[in-house]
Amino acid sequence: MKTIGYAAFSTDAVMAPYHFERRALRPNDVAIEILFCGVCHSDLHTVNGDWGPQPYPLIPGHEIVGRVQAVGSAVVHYKEGDRVAVGCLVDSCQQCDQCEKHAEQYCRTGITPTYGAPDRVDGVITQGGYSKHIVVREEFVLRIPENMDLAKAAPILCAGITTYSPLRTWQVGRGSRVGVVGLGGLGHMAVKLAHAMGAEVTVISRSDQKKAQAIAMGAKAMLISSDTAAMNAAASAFDLIIDTVPVKHDVSIYTPLLDVDGTLVIVGQVGPLNELMTIPLIMGRRRIAGSLIGGIAETQEVLNFCAEHDVYPDCEMIRMDQINEAFSRLKEGDLARRFVIDMASLNPN
Ligand SMILES: [Zn+2]
Ligand SMILES: [Zn+2]
Repeated sequence: MKTIGYAAFSTDAVMAPYHFERRALRPNDVAIEILFCGVCHSDLHTVNGDWGPQPYPLIPGHEIVGRVQAVGSAVVHYKEGDRVAVGCLVDSCQQCDQCEKHAEQYCRTGITPTYGAPDRVDGVITQGGYSKHIVVREEFVLRIPENMDLAKAAPILCAGITTYSPLRTWQVGRGSRVGVVGLGGLGHMAVKLAHAMGAEVTVISRSDQKKAQAIAMGAKAMLISSDTAAMNAAASAFDLIIDTVPVKHDVSIYTPLLDVDGTLVIVGQVGPLNELMTIPLIMGRRRIAGSLIGGIAETQEVLNFCAEHDVYPDCEMIRMDQINEAFSRLKEGDLARRFVIDMASLNPN
């Protein structure tokens, strides 16, 4: 199937139109017309080559929402016209212990990410959602709930599941005390989801610039990390901290904020952190953990949860040809919302 997308052609990450082909349907494949695609920080990191060399031309995008256009002969769960989504992974071994327990993101053989990696069957490099169409095996296609607004759903597929999974893993519920470090694409979803689960949420930030936004999203308070007195007063005040900061930083200023047995979960920075101070860890059996997106079943769960609780990311709709501008704005600083590309703006010719 001939289609079009916006690809990066080198590490300068300048995105431009790119004509290419999606594979012919295999028996278990679903062909999707993409309607919306979120713009994730990792799209920018990847096309920049920040995480290693990339196979260019590369089309990023792993927050994909659309409609089923056609299905392979063996597909049972989807039919033409269904409202569907695709997230950060499009294949895994489907056989190992992690896949068996629906944690495909930790597949022992590694996942096949939605873009930039060889397909497990034919070796062709996967291309992401900044395009008109995508073909994905049925097991990795999600269903958009009936009452969900398609235009606002896309960021749930990465920002949503990335924060939902640790909130569930550490059993956040009514009365849980949750801190969220950073109020960008991930952080703003963490606040909304934790609030919807009944937690008391505090945003921890370098400045109070986004305080009104944080409160409007459901946070109870904002803690300014440069305010030593306030940080001391908040010692042992949290059961769980979700750290969404996407760059190298000092986690040791946050660990004393955890209660005994509390956990700080890193979901932003992929790479080194500042030198670690272990005293707060040892003195309070506090933990530092990491967490990667979520499995397919859990991603369906967060979509259903958001539909049920009317939780939506704050989206700023852009045209496909505004992507370079959106990337520059992302580079300047993390916004407390997500850019979402309206794929109707991409001319198929
Ligand atoms: Zn992402
Ligand atoms: Zn596996």
